[in-house]
Amino acid sequence: MNAYDAGRMADLLYKSHKLSMVETPQQADLIILNTCHIREKADDKIFSELGRLKKLTKGHNSNKRYIFGVGGCVGQAQGAELFKRAPFVDLVFGPQNYHHLPHMLNQVLDGKRQLHDIEIPPESKFDALPSAPSSGFSAAVPVQEGCDRFCTYCVVPFTRGREWSRPVADILQEIKNLTEKGAIEIELLGQNVNAYLGHDPDGVEHDLALLIKQVSLVNGVERIRFITSHPADMNDDLIAAFGEVPQLNSYMHLPIQSGSDKILTAMERGHTVAEYLTWINKLKTTCPQITLASDFIVGFPGETEEDFQNTLNLIKEVRYGHAYSFLYSPRPGTAAADMKNIVPQEVGEERLSRLQELINTIQIEENQAQVGRVESVLVEGVAKKGEGMLAGRTSGFRRINFLAPEELIGTLANVLVTEARPNSLIGEFIRGNK
Ligand code: SAH
Ligand code: SF4
Repeated sequence: MNAYDAGRMADLLYKSHKLSMVETPQQADLIILNTCHIREKADDKIFSELGRLKKLTKGHNSNKRYIFGVGGCVGQAQGAELFKRAPFVDLVFGPQNYHHLPHMLNQVLDGKRQLHDIEIPPESKFDALPSAPSSGFSAAVPVQEGCDRFCTYCVVPFTRGREWSRPVADILQEIKNLTEKGAIEIELLGQNVNAYLGHDPDGVEHDLALLIKQVSLVNGVERIRFITSHPADMNDDLIAAFGEVPQLNSYMHLPIQSGSDKILTAMERGHTVAEYLTWINKLKTTCPQITLASDFIVGFPGETEEDFQNTLNLIKEVRYGHAYSFLYSPRPGTAAADMKNIVPQEVGEERLSRLQELINTIQIEENQAQVGRVESVLVEGVAKKGEGMLAGRTSGFRRINFLAPEELIGTLANVLVTEARPNSLIGEFIRGNK
């Protein structure tokens, strides 16, 4: 979602001030850091990056006036406080009001300094954004933003704001624009995308499953993905969509965070491990080739070795094709930040490395299980490594490289999987097929 926001900021500033992207910070007039606040590490990175950028103002072209902005969730969380640590920053704003950027920039050009704008506005930023001037073959479209779940460890409800769904017509219009510019895969984005509940112009309520069906009817949409879903917002219609909508990719990112009911309760995730497994089994029944993915937090306060073993057991049972895993990071303002029974850092780190080892082993086995299958691949471009190979993604979101003519870039190609690598596949293009 941050990548989407950054792209839209660029579109907006091109339209308002004819600013275009440059290769290096030195070449820029305006430098914006679009930031993430989810874990302390991400937060720390911003201040070290700001330290590096500050040097620009002291280098050989120090008489050049750079304008610095900090947007995204760190901007939202820190507001004017950020100027105390980085007084040379001109603009601070959040993820819900970057459509004010042209106005803020005008104020800076008029001589104002240290402006901040972090009020979550009543209007939707989407109404103020210009339509994207270009599109890649795979394009992201936010359909839902913010979160009302308040999991005890998470800053998202504070930084992205409350849960909100875009109207169906706006989403379909944006998708039409993107397909006309060359997109064939649409990725529907939301912090809790399966909590989507929007309306069409007749007032008919659409959940995510119905929205996906509408998206599949837009001319030129050959593939659909959606990310990220919450187990407590699952419904049977969404699972049925995997059997009903041919363009829907066989990939589901359904984070559980922990395999222990005790920890899920402390996180206030709103479901049990057994309920989660029921959804997983339904998904596997409807779409046997589905790639399942999850996020895990290791070392949450109160996590015992037994709780952790339950997480490992869950991973072995589900057999994820891919998973993100993080050491728990206490975040200011969240309920978990005050919890006792802190797991010592070294215990957390040791558990994290065991968990990642298991995830990697299963990922490799799952990649090997793809060998011999014919996959529909979205051909994204020339492979970075590998003579003449093209690179793409399977419907299950695995990277695959294969020899084929470059005209195939931007299309769907049928590819036979011939070899599995730890993080990707190798394949053979099947001629005669689209
Ligand atoms: N809405 C999604 C996740 C959004 S945040 C969901 O509920 O699944 C992305 C991921 O960051 C989370 O799934 C979680 O694994 C991780 N995360 C969030 N807060 C964290 C924290 N305080 N410490 C460590 N990881 C965290
Ligand atoms: Fe954060 Fe996801 Fe929980 Fe919302 S559902 S509070 S985004 S982890």
